[in-house]
Amino acid sequence: MTPEIHCKAIVFDFDGTLADSMPFLEEIGVATMMKHYGVSREDATQRYRSTTGLPYEHQIKSNFPGDPRNEEAIEEFEQLKIERIFDQELFSDTVAVVEQLNDKGIEVFVSSSTFQPTIEEYFRRRRIIGMFKAIVGYRPGFEKGADHFNHIHREFDIPFTDMIFVGDSLKDQKRAEGFCRFIALTGMFTESDFRRQNHQGAVIDSLSALLSLVSLAHD
Ligand SMILES: [Mg+2]
Repeated sequence: MTPEIHCKAIVFDFDGTLADSMPFLEEIGVATMMKHYGVSREDATQRYRSTTGLPYEHQIKSNFPGDPRNEEAIEEFEQLKIERIFDQELFSDTVAVVEQLNDKGIEVFVSSSTFQPTIEEYFRRRRIIGMFKAIVGYRPGFEKGADHFNHIHREFDIPFTDMIFVGDSLKDQKRAEGFCRFIALTGMFTESDFRRQNHQGAVIDSLSALLSLVSLAHD
């Protein structure tokens, strides 16, 4: 099949897209909600999933607005996360896919809701940080989505029309709207979930599927 999607840069979400970390994050995210707010597992899971893709801070604040227990819950989650995030594995095809995108001349970025030093350290430990043009992490006021896309656009001179965002959550899809094209990776959400949210672009069920879809855009 001839690749039909042309771009100069691909921005990947991290959790659930490059790394198989969603089961772990959901486990601690749900446990934290159950412990601090006394909600059932079912309720916490629904609250977690409906806001997944946002920094946990925002997941908590949108589920429990103004609740005095929020700061403690957020702190505990971040602590639990940092203790085990470095143990989370990349998907089996991640490294090969990123290498082949590099070979095609496409620049590869990571945009994550994990704090900058943590996400950078993750790639440094695996000795693959050099495969990425930049790893862009979270700090308050600088989030995955508009902030990160604008940063990549400005700092690396990538027009939004040449940028593609690949993510696994409905929030990711929303965040690409008005900026760049979005490719949805199924896993936590199904193709119908993305279509129901009016996604018209490509949907893939593994990162490897990207390779036959995308090629370098020429001026
Ligand atoms: Mg994700």
